[in-house]
Amino acid sequence: MLGVKFKEILDSLFLKELVSGMAITLRYMFKPKITIQYPEERTPTSPRFRGVHVLRKYEDGEERCVACKLCEAICPAQAIYIEIDETSRAEKRLTKVYDIDLFKCIYCGLCEEACPVEAIVMGPYLDVAFENREDRFYHKDKMLTNGDKWKPVVDARLQADAKYR
Ligand code: SF4
Ligand code: SF4
Repeated sequence: MLGVKFKEILDSLFLKELVSGMAITLRYMFKPKITIQYPEERTPTSPRFRGVHVLRKYEDGEERCVACKLCEAICPAQAIYIEIDETSRAEKRLTKVYDIDLFKCIYCGLCEEACPVEAIVMGPYLDVAFENREDRFYHKDKMLTNGDKWKPVVDARLQADAKYR
């Protein structure tokens, strides 16, 4: 008992805990940093990462989506709402409205799996913040814009995963 007390006194006299803490700090000071400055810096993500959706176009800028509504039908959360552009039927069916409710979406990726023309694809980011409830809807224009913006990442992702599809 006395031995234990004496050891405690010695430890506190020589600031043993403080010195060992400082030693750990010094050791990690010269190692490569493991934290990142989010959102400027990002950790790598798998080609199968399921971020917020994008709508893709063909190389000539034509919309891929043919308004077949398969994605809407398969969505288990009923998060997709599509209206067909009735004026577009003659040459190619297009959507007039294409909304995804991100409050409902569970990021299962089934819409992407169902799409016959790889129009709807899960994007590389999941950074979604809303200032009001209406912002939770991802509209067609926004998804097309994101599709253009993230095209290189999305194309690389589809290519990397192609042999498993
Ligand atoms: S990821 Fe799943 S839940 Fe979300 S819109 Fe697509 S099918 Fe629906
Ligand atoms: S995104 Fe694909 S599955 Fe959905 S309506 Fe358009 S073509 Fe059909």
